[in-house]
Amino acid sequence: MTAREKLFSLELFPPRTPEGVEKLRAARRQLAQLSPAFFSVTFGAGGSTREGTLATVLEIRDEGHAAAPHLSCVSSTRESIRDVLAQYRDSGIRHLVALRGDLPSGTADAGEFRYASELVAFIRTETGDWFHIDVAAYPEYHPQARSPDDDLANFKRKVDAGADSAITQYFFNPDAYWRFVDACADAGVSVPIVPGIMPIASYSKLARFSDACGAEIPRWIRRKLESFGDDGPSIRAFGLDVITRLCSDLLERGAPGLHFYTLNQASLTSTVWHRLGL
Ligand SMILES: Cc1cc2nc3c(=O)[nH]c(=O)nc-3n(C[C@H](O)[C@H](O)[C@H](O)COP(=O)(O)OP(=O)(O)OC[C@H]3O[C@@H](n4cnc5c(N)ncnc54)[C@H](O)[C@@H]3O)c2cc1C
Repeated sequence: MTAREKLFSLELFPPRTPEGVEKLRAARRQLAQLSPAFFSVTFGAGGSTREGTLATVLEIRDEGHAAAPHLSCVSSTRESIRDVLAQYRDSGIRHLVALRGDLPSGTADAGEFRYASELVAFIRTETGDWFHIDVAAYPEYHPQARSPDDDLANFKRKVDAGADSAITQYFFNPDAYWRFVDACADAGVSVPIVPGIMPIASYSKLARFSDACGAEIPRWIRRKLESFGDDGPSIRAFGLDVITRLCSDLLERGAPGLHFYTLNQASLTSTVWHRLGL
């Protein structure tokens, strides 16, 4: 596979304020120059609404780019998912990222689907092969998984239910990714597993987020980032080196592509992209 045949995609979240909408438009204009295979748009994370995801996805589509909305089980009923699938289908959307989602604290309504595998199965039953379905994968294992073997079995369940490919939680240790890919192959899972890449913009946010989602920041990266204190330019310069090397290692060893968690910021992702010569 040459670099050009690999799948490079970018994740955005729906903005919640008019200023956020304008900022995202500006970031998207810059990111669109990278010609990603698609933009994916989160749903539910950080309180975003389904309307916000839909509006962002439609804007991206109207700008002439492929867009993949995320869809989660949280607070969803069969009926509400049926409606949203019809809406996406009528809008010509052909790609979804199907997730369980996380319940915001204080919310009791888990919805009618317990796991992403149930959502994937429902989408397939309702819409056949209309959608390309991506699901989440966890090279360092999902924080709520009972064991690594259980998590792998659960990932396989999502693929068996009809997922076409997967995007991973971000990680900084490529060995975790390759071990996971090998374990999937041994379990008979052969769909592309695209590494999720988190550019490093700030230490405190990254540390908080990583603790919550179970992504390990290796000690040497943590210590280096800590040593920069509030020196943003040094954090970003070091982060760019670490992430570019991680991406380049993954691509050289045969990863099927890269999915960047842009956090609606264009500059770090664009710099990594250019350094990789994509
Ligand atoms: C690429 C990517 C995109 C994301 N986008 C969003 C987003 O837009 N919005 C959002 O809210 N969150 C998003 N998330 C976060 C995600 O929703 C959380 O990580 C969530 O906790 C798990 O979602 P999942 O789809 O992986 O769940 P699942 O695959 O359902 O797994 C959840 C947990 O349940 C376990 N499990 C699964 N099936 C079973 C079973 N049958 N029996 C027992 N245990 C089981 C799994 O091992 C795992 O521990 C994203 C994550 C990734 C990696």
